[in-house]
Amino acid sequence: MADYDYDLFVIGAGSGGVRAARLTALDGKKVAVAEEYRVGGTCVIRGCVPKKFMVMASEVSHALEIAEGYGWSFDNAKFDWPTFLEAKDVEIARLSGIYAANLGKAGVELVHGRAVLKDAHTVEIVGKDRTITAEKILIATGGRPWKPEELPGIEHAITSEEAFHLPELPKRILIAGGGYIAVEFAGIFAGLGVETTLIYRGPNILRGFDDDVRAHLAGEIEKRGIKVILGCQHEKIEKTDTGLVNHLENGMKLETDVVMFATGRIPYVKDLGLESAGVELDEAGAIKVDPHSRTTADNIWALGDVTDRMNLTPVAIREAVAFHQTVYRDNPQHFDYEAVATAVFSQPPVGVVGLSEAEARRSCSNGVDVYVTRFRPMKYAFTGSDERVLMKLVVDADSQRVVGVHIVGPDSPEMIQLAAIAVKAGLTKAQWDATCAVHPTMAEELVTLKEKQSGATSAG
Ligand code: NDP
Repeated sequence: MADYDYDLFVIGAGSGGVRAARLTALDGKKVAVAEEYRVGGTCVIRGCVPKKFMVMASEVSHALEIAEGYGWSFDNAKFDWPTFLEAKDVEIARLSGIYAANLGKAGVELVHGRAVLKDAHTVEIVGKDRTITAEKILIATGGRPWKPEELPGIEHAITSEEAFHLPELPKRILIAGGGYIAVEFAGIFAGLGVETTLIYRGPNILRGFDDDVRAHLAGEIEKRGIKVILGCQHEKIEKTDTGLVNHLENGMKLETDVVMFATGRIPYVKDLGLESAGVELDEAGAIKVDPHSRTTADNIWALGDVTDRMNLTPVAIREAVAFHQTVYRDNPQHFDYEAVATAVFSQPPVGVVGLSEAEARRSCSNGVDVYVTRFRPMKYAFTGSDERVLMKLVVDADSQRVVGVHIVGPDSPEMIQLAAIAVKAGLTKAQWDATCAVHPTMAEELVTLKEKQSGATSAG
């Protein structure tokens, strides 16, 4: 080690990089982390956290509607976008500060600047005339939004990054894509009173999720006022005197104020100098790693979104913990990607853990038992709203283990975190049923589902 400036040099101070840096420094190693923007990464600065604040701001409009059903009145309720933006940005700055302070407390040196690999042990901090050597290097640079650059007029479209800082709330927005970000932002803007259209190229939103979830959510977001256009591609975006016109391949011309592309994210590896260090990419452009997150260069590791395995904050953190155990504690570990719960913060939100019905039919040799319920939550009893909750359990017919839980409805992200414990533990439907209900709640349905969907048990 004496030959190197640091034991470990981490590139990227997001969730994964910060966790790995802190754990390693707390073990007494000499660690630095480079960050070219703000400490906290996608999650804290332009992802999960500000997004959730936007969801919470947006949900208030729905809460007010419910409240009126209960006898409340709000004669002058209005939303002020600049007030919200300022409050959000103050909180994000506070959180970013906590991340930076925690690095300091652990003894990690924070290097402000863009680090570029020069060889397997050397990085240069661009524009700072500083070259640093390290015995080991960890790349945790995350991802960046992607949009189809070949689409005429795409320069007029924003991505989620700009959506966090729009100078004013538009009257109309058109969102392209049908994944997490598209669906979440459609809900945010619609809730804030923006006329919102979601355009997706496939037959239904949230490809990869359970088909009942996809169908149910598409219906529910339409009830919240989002116009959903499916099976459609974009032809061009035209700037006019009054806004933007999105031309679709089916001949539709949609006028709007803002076009947002939420068409996926790609690993952030641009100009990182990977070739100089012998770090290879896979066909999809992500850093190639083994199960312990080691790249094709012996002393370089990579984790989080830049490796495009499962692009979720808690997963990056677990990958960082496994990296630390493997590399610095002589305890080889790799993260187990099975039964990781996830939530889509659409309105209503979605909580999912385990297999979709289609996946279960493919993997359970003797078929599956499916339990589904759809009901109106008690909360909406006085509102006249016809919003409904979907709950679905997918059970391996042979072992009777619950292998998938799918919920669309209020508080489903909170419910799914707990359901995930039972799914991860491999509990059977009988064990779920032996758990006494909490009444009156929505979640009690999960332990009282008795009726198998007819004809469900089949190897399909
Ligand atoms: P996703 O991969 O989830 O969705 C991308 C969407 O864009 C898909 O609907 C895709 O269609 C569509 N698309 C891709 N290319 C084109 C194209 N050329 N023209 C039209 N449509 C296109 O990406 P997101 O950007 O929504 O999110 C990125 C990742 O970030 C997620 O996968 C998730 O891992 C993570 N994330 C997690 C969140 C959470 O946990 N709540 C929130 C936000 C992000 P198709 O389905 O047909 O491929």
